Amino acid sequence: MIGSNFPRAAADAVRSGAADPNITLLLFPLMRRLMVKRAKVRRVLRRLEQMYGTRTWTRPACGLDVLVEALLAQNTNMANATSGYRQLRRRFRSWNAVMAAPVEDVQRQIAICGLARMRARRLQDLLRIIRAQRGKLDIEFLRDEAPRAAYDWLTSFYGIGPKTAAFTLLFAFALPVLPVDNGVLRVLRRTRLVRAKARDAEAEHTMSPLIAPGRHYAMHVLLFTHAKQRCRPKNPKCDECRLLELCPHGKRRVRHAAPEQPEEVTTLRRRAARLATFASAGILRSSDADGAGVLRPRGRAR
Ligand code: SF4
Repeated sequence: MIGSNFPRAAADAVRSGAADPNITLLLFPLMRRLMVKRAKVRRVLRRLEQMYGTRTWTRPACGLDVLVEALLAQNTNMANATSGYRQLRRRFRSWNAVMAAPVEDVQRQIAICGLARMRARRLQDLLRIIRAQRGKLDIEFLRDEAPRAAYDWLTSFYGIGPKTAAFTLLFAFALPVLPVDNGVLRVLRRTRLVRAKARDAEAEHTMSPLIAPGRHYAMHVLLFTHAKQRCRPKNPKCDECRLLELCPHGKRRVRHAAPEQPEEVTTLRRRAARLATFASAGILRSSDADGAGVLRPRGRAR
């Protein structure tokens, strides 16, 4: 869970003798597993930094601005989302103006993001609810909330999912949460930092407490970069990846990669496969090929 510091708290309780001895026995393997996992997360981050350089969070931003941009980024790429967001900011001077505008006008500004009518309605509804709840269009109070409470508040709105909430909390307020998009999820699954079938919300809940304080931004940006540059959905570049030693998926791929054959062997194999196909279709007999597997159609002078 976000902000959970279970292993450290349990370790303190055991060390101080406050924990029941029976419970201590039960807790010990669990604590050990969590410590091992934390160490692996640290190693993954260190190696990502060796590959792509360090990343630090330097851009304090207005929470509502980041939230709207994150909403526009749902089901589209970041370039379209940024373009739609800029168009919206150029047309309207404030979020109050966006809220009060005709829906068609808002829809026109964010057309590049796709599903514009639905997005425009959802955005205006969200702004109205925030205004009704808080008395103004401002979510800066989240900066001082516990990460878990801030996350729950955001995800309680219709249309704000785990990724949008985590993105807003990390990029606007630097809270210790890890936004998990498809690329980040792919790397986390392949390195088995999360279960192979974990979804984005589960991955976020598992990973956020394992990352050292102040390192969530670096972890997110570097995993995102790695997913784009090397750990692609098809044909990941495992042979040039520094995570290979820590990655069961990569190790399996490298182990099972077919050794490169000399060109002649490959050609002969291809001819043999073609011959077998024709023979099974009754077009040729095996004897219709010469010693090198070159096909000789029946009836042609030899
Ligand atoms: S070793 Fe391969 S699968 Fe594993 S993280 Fe690196 S690129 Fe991805």
